[in-house]
Amino acid sequence: MSNFNYDSYCGIYCGACSILRAYQTGIKDKFASFMSDEMGFELRCHGCKTDTVFENCANCKARNCSINKKVERCIDCSNFPCDIVNSDELKNILDKLPHLKTILNNIGTIKNIGVNKWLEDQDKKWKCPDCQTNFTWYTTKCSKCGKDLEKIMDYEKTFDKSIFEGIK
Ligand SMILES: [Zn+2]
Repeated sequence: MSNFNYDSYCGIYCGACSILRAYQTGIKDKFASFMSDEMGFELRCHGCKTDTVFENCANCKARNCSINKKVERCIDCSNFPCDIVNSDELKNILDKLPHLKTILNNIGTIKNIGVNKWLEDQDKKWKCPDCQTNFTWYTTKCSKCGKDLEKIMDYEKTFDKSIFEGIK
């Protein structure tokens, strides 16, 4: 399990992904638990830009559009921000899955400092400040030392399950 890639087409950091990390480590945050135990998805992913993509992410419009247009990421597209990015559907998703708000910072940062430096910075950012264990989007307590991580990121660590109604 070495060929992981944490870069993505939209600007989300796959290294903090509940699904990918659960697949890697066996440790599920509440989002990964919901996706596997309640939704019945197989938690299997090597990252957005690999051929082993979580089945729900394989349907992502932004991802498929970037692949078709052969752009490294959405923001590099001549049509950005397009109707997919500005759609009500996407605004609704952003509201219900607050971890996606990290994308808005990430796309600007990637433009400014480059993807390699961004990946380095993200790797540090998503580690417990006390024991350096990786944590994920909806981690509220460090899986190793128990540190409270509820407030460590500037978005709510709760998601709205209704967004997934009827998709499986
Ligand atoms: Zn810790």
